[in-house]
Amino acid sequence: MYDVTIIGAGIVGTFIARELSKYQLNILLLDKENDVANGTTKANSAICHAGYDAEPNTLKARFNVEGNKMMEDICRELDVPFKRIGSLVVAFSQEEMVTIEELYQRGIANNVPNLKILNKKELVEKEPNISPNAVGALYAPTAGIMGPFELAFALAENAVDNGVELLLNNEVKKIDKLEEGYRIYTNNKEIDTKYVVNCAGVYADEIHNMVAEPQFKIVPRRGQYFLLDRIAGSTVNSVIFQCPVKNSKGVVVLPTVHGNLLVGPDAQDLDDKEDRDTTDDRLEYVRKSAYKTSEKIPFNTVITSFAGLRASPDTKDFIIGEIKGTKGFIDVAGIESPGLSASPAIGKYVAQLLKNIDGSFKENPEFKSTRKRAIHFMELSNEEKNEIIKKDPRYGRIICRCENITEGEIVDAIHRNVGGTTVDGIKRRVRPGMGRCQGGFCQPRVIEILARELGKDFTEIPKDGLNSNIAIRETK
Ligand SMILES: Cc1cc2nc3c(=O)[nH]c(=O)nc-3n(C[C@H](O)[C@H](O)[C@H](O)COP(=O)(O)OP(=O)(O)OC[C@H]3O[C@@H](n4cnc5c(N)ncnc54)[C@H](O)[C@@H]3O)c2cc1C
Repeated sequence: MYDVTIIGAGIVGTFIARELSKYQLNILLLDKENDVANGTTKANSAICHAGYDAEPNTLKARFNVEGNKMMEDICRELDVPFKRIGSLVVAFSQEEMVTIEELYQRGIANNVPNLKILNKKELVEKEPNISPNAVGALYAPTAGIMGPFELAFALAENAVDNGVELLLNNEVKKIDKLEEGYRIYTNNKEIDTKYVVNCAGVYADEIHNMVAEPQFKIVPRRGQYFLLDRIAGSTVNSVIFQCPVKNSKGVVVLPTVHGNLLVGPDAQDLDDKEDRDTTDDRLEYVRKSAYKTSEKIPFNTVITSFAGLRASPDTKDFIIGEIKGTKGFIDVAGIESPGLSASPAIGKYVAQLLKNIDGSFKENPEFKSTRKRAIHFMELSNEEKNEIIKKDPRYGRIICRCENITEGEIVDAIHRNVGGTTVDGIKRRVRPGMGRCQGGFCQPRVIEILARELGKDFTEIPKDGLNSNIAIRETK
């Protein structure tokens, strides 16, 4: 019997797994997908919000501000990118300056440090490409940008290194209460566990309903984006919001940690929890809205578009806690934005919650807090490059010419303790296919390497999720 089973290996599940691995426990982290971070965690704005958006005294406000404070150190420990570049909420009229003042006051109430209201001159000094129609802004220096899926992979690797078991391709279908604990039925297995943590993203309401009366409903709220080439990355220096609109923080323009420019999202409530399609009309809305921020956004350098699904709860706040009358079953649901920013604090809180419920958790004296990322060949000095090629000639073969990724890096990403098994899994780990040609040149070679290293036929290598195989048969 496991002590704790965590359903959902997104940023929240991986943070909880890593936090719980600080104790001597039998922990299972399971997911229905074929990789970690294949839900909302793979498609969002990647902002570590400062914390002025959420209503004071909500879980969102509390965990956002706490999580923001923790994020940089954790990213350093796990060797993943994080940049504290600050955010701006820009006003385009005196009327909107009233909203800016409200956000400022809310930020003060939420204990967000160092907020400042900027006049037009100060704003233009920070952002020379801002629209001439801007009149002022709220500046939050503590906001940052991050790599959400890189962080989830790193957390999962570190958790596994510390004894957590990871089980992919297992969709939870049913849960029975036992005399002590729970029996979880997946499409492949029966799993007995003392405690359950439900962090199943857009499906968290359905998991909750397997053991208790319905208490909340999760609506998938889709957001669509453009990703622009690296040559566009310096259009802005910070994360630039407009004043919030109903249902979302509005369209944002920001550089990514890898130097691209990200523009989006819109907000559209759907019924289908799997619908991550992009659509012409919504992308056109994103493009037009972003021009309001800056007419200098070079949309002729778009390299891809994508969509993510917010797990939007009808309760309007995060739902975190033991279900009443269902001992040891913890919901971590409705984790829409700022869920990424809040995730370190949520992880810590949930681990403490379980510790209090059980009363006998013992610390793991062998807990290792650090994890090293793969070698980034192109960041090495010439001497280091020569040295590593001598040891492993695969680092001398470039596979992705846009991002300069070597075969050695791809092989490393496959054989890590939470290795990639899909084309997009490798892309998210070490970036072949993330560049201008979006895998046009390197994708067949990545498939070949995956097939060779995993001992599979090339037709068995999926692009991303289950049943997304690219090649069906050999033609010549
Ligand atoms: C458009 C958009 C923009 C956003 N921007 C930001 C931002 O800039 N900053 C920020 O802080 N937050 C942002 N967010 C929110 C943030 O992305 C989420 O809060 C966070 O990723 C949620 O992580 P999670 O682990 O709860 O969910 P997920 O990543 O969705 O993980 C849930 C996991 O559960 C698994 N699962 C579901 N059902 C089952 C089942 N039956 N059996 C087994 N496994 C199951 C799924 O496969 C999935 O991997 C944004 C969200 C969106 C959509």
